[in-house]
Amino acid sequence: MSYARALRCRKCGQEYPLEPRNMCDFCLSPVEVSYDYKAMAKSVTRDKLKEGPLSIWRYRDMMPTNGDEVDIGTGYTPLIKADNLGGELGLNQLYIKNDCLNPTYSFKDRAVSVAVTKAREFGFDTVACASTGNLAASVAAHAAKANMKAYVFVPADVGPGKLVGAAIHNPTLVTVDGSYDDVNRLCINLVQKYNWGFININLRPYYAEGSKTLGHEIAEQLGWRSPDCVIAPAGSGLMFTRIWKGLDEMAMLKLIEPVNTHMYLSQAAGSSPIVNAYEAGSLHVHPVTPNTIAKSIAIGSPTDGYYALLVARQSGGGACAVSDEETIDGIKLLAQTEGIFAEATGGVVIAVLKKLAESGKISKDQTTVAVITGAGPRTQDIVSDVVHATTVKPNVEAFEEAFLSPV
Ligand SMILES: [Zn+2]
Repeated sequence: MSYARALRCRKCGQEYPLEPRNMCDFCLSPVEVSYDYKAMAKSVTRDKLKEGPLSIWRYRDMMPTNGDEVDIGTGYTPLIKADNLGGELGLNQLYIKNDCLNPTYSFKDRAVSVAVTKAREFGFDTVACASTGNLAASVAAHAAKANMKAYVFVPADVGPGKLVGAAIHNPTLVTVDGSYDDVNRLCINLVQKYNWGFININLRPYYAEGSKTLGHEIAEQLGWRSPDCVIAPAGSGLMFTRIWKGLDEMAMLKLIEPVNTHMYLSQAAGSSPIVNAYEAGSLHVHPVTPNTIAKSIAIGSPTDGYYALLVARQSGGGACAVSDEETIDGIKLLAQTEGIFAEATGGVVIAVLKKLAESGKISKDQTTVAVITGAGPRTQDIVSDVVHATTVKPNVEAFEEAFLSPV
């Protein structure tokens, strides 16, 4: 049984039963899962966690699910000590959290595992989502595993790699003539009409809980401590807030010392409503029209932007945006120093990390974790200029003639 006790409004504190719901009826603010942490603390220990499976389900006592998980092997992804990249940037304690290594190649599997498990608990036979691409693949994969129907909605321009990544699991794939924000609005209208589990709408509080395992894992993999700095991307802003919540829970359960982590939020300059608000010293996130190669975080009207901004501020971190050119350089730098091929969102994170290191905001001995949330191969067209090959005849002389000076 779960230690979740209610859904609670993040603004006015009104409580609701654990049901499909994303907002408070009184103030229209998002609701989140609240737990009986006292009871949880009695059962969650380092020793017990260490005996758990090498997946997000090692933290099942900290989840809102009641067992019978939809598990495709998500989580417990590597935390790599990035000495080569750290050397380039002058950082001695740099780590990469490589969430490209989830089953459908992005961090979304964390959130979706929990949301689809809850969808099945609630008795839905169909799950659906609004997606920029990665979420669609993850929802389709989990629906396949759970023997559920799936409707996935994406902007028509997401690109062939992301369409195939979802379609291979045989969902009903709906391409929408509009931006992600248009897709999201369509799904908000559909949720009123169809009794489906919309992963990031009426199941959003549960979906959010999956992402906090990023914080749990980072703390455990660092040897039961919270890093000094985390650099993570923000589209809707939800995952960014949940890394913080995951770290905070570890401290609340006395598994680590109190958290003193500076949270740095990364966006693409072509879609940076949260960074704009941060730079303006405002807590009001004004919507923008996205125009960036970083499609996974191209969300002009971020649902959790306000809360992400609060985390960046209150943690003593910050928020920074980078251009598409810097993003491409970031993808290449990560691939060529650490052997990790990230999608554009990862390039954004590395480019922001570089700026923070160069400006001295992150100092060389601070333990810093850069969160890489999705893999590059689905969107490889954006870096296709790296291919420089010379075709030779299949003999030694031809090879040497093309590549080596004659001896
Ligand atoms: Zn409320």
